[in-house]
Amino acid sequence: MVWSERQRAMLEVMGLRVWSAPAAAEPAVLAAAVADEAVPSAPAASPPAHEDATALTPPVSRRPTPAAQPIAAPVAAPGAVNAAGLDWPALRAAVASCTACALSDSRTQTVFGTGHLQAHWMIIGEAPGEAEDLSGEPFVGRSGQLLDNMLRAIGLSRHAGDTPDPARQVFIANTLKCRPPRNRNPLPDELARCEGFLIRQIELVRPKIILAMGSFAVQSLLRSSAPVGQLRGRVHHYQGVPLIVTYHPAYLLRQLSEKARAWDDLCLALDTVEAAGALAARV
Ligand code: SF4
Repeated sequence: MVWSERQRAMLEVMGLRVWSAPAAAEPAVLAAAVADEAVPSAPAASPPAHEDATALTPPVSRRPTPAAQPIAAPVAAPGAVNAAGLDWPALRAAVASCTACALSDSRTQTVFGTGHLQAHWMIIGEAPGEAEDLSGEPFVGRSGQLLDNMLRAIGLSRHAGDTPDPARQVFIANTLKCRPPRNRNPLPDELARCEGFLIRQIELVRPKIILAMGSFAVQSLLRSSAPVGQLRGRVHHYQGVPLIVTYHPAYLLRQLSEKARAWDDLCLALDTVEAAGALAARV
């Protein structure tokens, strides 16, 4: 794969340095590096002289899509808000006026979600933080900037004006629509009650791929308490939609060494979507 200057710039913003193998080597060989990660093997080609000598080989590359591992479609937990059958305006109004859990007492406003309503990609995070609570939009601040850069690196955008193509658009939502006080972890009862809204959002968007970011999103969608590190790297399914588990951008800002794995997850998602599209084109 040949990286465009734009993609290179975006990867560098993510903290990933990339270089291409010389022409004599395999053309698709890529190298990406993070400075504080262990070296798994010698690189196929030496990096250019200007690269940091400690820059390491790539845990990151385009690769064959692992076999799908279906998971039984979750049903809304007991006590979940009932959003079945609501259209977008009714759903938005129901979220805005919701008092189904105690988080309604402390929120500034609900954080519904944002993006193209028929986006092929759906990103699901955890709970609003302070900036999201104030702005009403998910993934703002530094973690939002990192997410936008990651998405831009693979040609995606949350802003409808960037491209009219839904295949290049994302819809972003959180499992919880209200901020937990002092950014504490969501409580199981809060996640259970709010889940009906997320289920309806997924039904309405009907994405081709879901990226679940962070442990609470994963717990809600896959009904699994396994850590993200154990669940990432393969294709799961949620109600028949391929689902890729990856790290939350806020975690990546604290654990720089995991950015390369997050990039690997994005590449897996891209491969999965492309493979599904190629399959659909043949039938
Ligand atoms: S977190 Fe969800 S269930 Fe709780 S009040 Fe907010 S919208 Fe309602």
